[in-house]
Amino acid sequence: MTVGIVGGGQLGRMLAMAGYPLGLDFVFLDPAADPPAAALAPHLKGPLDDRRLLNELARRSEIITFDWENVSVAALRELARRVRICPPLAALAASQDRVSEKRLFERLKIPTTRWRAVASLKQLQRAVADIGLPGVLKTRRLGYDGKGQFLLKRAAEVESAWHQLGAVPLLYEESVAFSHEVSIIGARSLHGEVAIYPLNGNVHSQGILRVTRAPYGPPSWQTLAQRYLARVLAHFRYVGILAIEFFVRRGRLIANEMAPRVHNSGHWTIEGAVTSQFENHLRAILGLPLGAAHARGHCAMINLIGEMPPLRELLAHEGLHVHDYAKAPRPGRKLGHCTLVARSAYDRDRRLRGLLATLAPNTRIP
Ligand code: AMP
Repeated sequence: MTVGIVGGGQLGRMLAMAGYPLGLDFVFLDPAADPPAAALAPHLKGPLDDRRLLNELARRSEIITFDWENVSVAALRELARRVRICPPLAALAASQDRVSEKRLFERLKIPTTRWRAVASLKQLQRAVADIGLPGVLKTRRLGYDGKGQFLLKRAAEVESAWHQLGAVPLLYEESVAFSHEVSIIGARSLHGEVAIYPLNGNVHSQGILRVTRAPYGPPSWQTLAQRYLARVLAHFRYVGILAIEFFVRRGRLIANEMAPRVHNSGHWTIEGAVTSQFENHLRAILGLPLGAAHARGHCAMINLIGEMPPLRELLAHEGLHVHDYAKAPRPGRKLGHCTLVARSAYDRDRRLRGLLATLAPNTRIP
């Protein structure tokens, strides 16, 4: 059985690593010359919407999935006539446009930020008057890891924010004074079986995920997040892994965005859960029984960004699991991650603080 993956980044690579023990094969489409997944499986090199290469991918695969949400829905719709594609393209389309995403949350009664769609300077001024300051101006499409965002603090910045981002459709939303950021990840299989992981507590800086801890937060957060995730899974008759990120403000969960794919905040599940998110994604799309999603301990994951620390130094930390994506270093680029699994939350946080002191001295955990 061969799984074709549109995108060959680290997520695709980790999907393949989860699939080989199950006897699966993989083939990737990616524009880079040497993407992280290419070390593991055949790689078709070219744009993700290249019709000829997508057809070639379909010819060589029993099923197609993707490791990145900014792939062309139109190109995949065409391909879906010939090969099964999971997760559903309607969910992919909703996740690509922040306005469709907000409307989806509202329709499913999932609390989200107060927001306005903005297509001109005048509309931005009106949105700022309605929603207030501070607020965040975001591009509707192609924003990730904090890219395409502007934190607006003062009315005097409105015009310059518009000129910085205003060439494309935007969304303006309240800036949430959150106490925590969390995410929930779950799988729904072809047969409607659902497995949901414990909640992740996430720390971002400059819009990029730095640290995840799981299981995280009081049971009431888990219950709410799980309920909201289940609504989205049911709405799309979803197949695969889905992630939703939330802000927590005074015990309420406020949805920020969703990702119709395996998610960075779920990397701890490789060593820290009974079944990893990568394996459960494959099980889900292939109609296999899902694996248990509970945690084996108290886990922390640190993203290694910009520069890979020497392997010798990382491995000197007892019990630390290291993943190097074999990417060229570049400021702000996710190059790898490491995970620790501890017996108690106290022990995890103590070890995590020790690691952060050398790996990411500017990252504070709540
Ligand atoms: P996003 O690309 O929407 O996931 O944003 C990346 C990160 O920027 C989030 O995880 C937050 O840390 C921060 N951020 C984005 N939108 C808001 C907001 N409306 N209020 C406060 N912080 C935000």
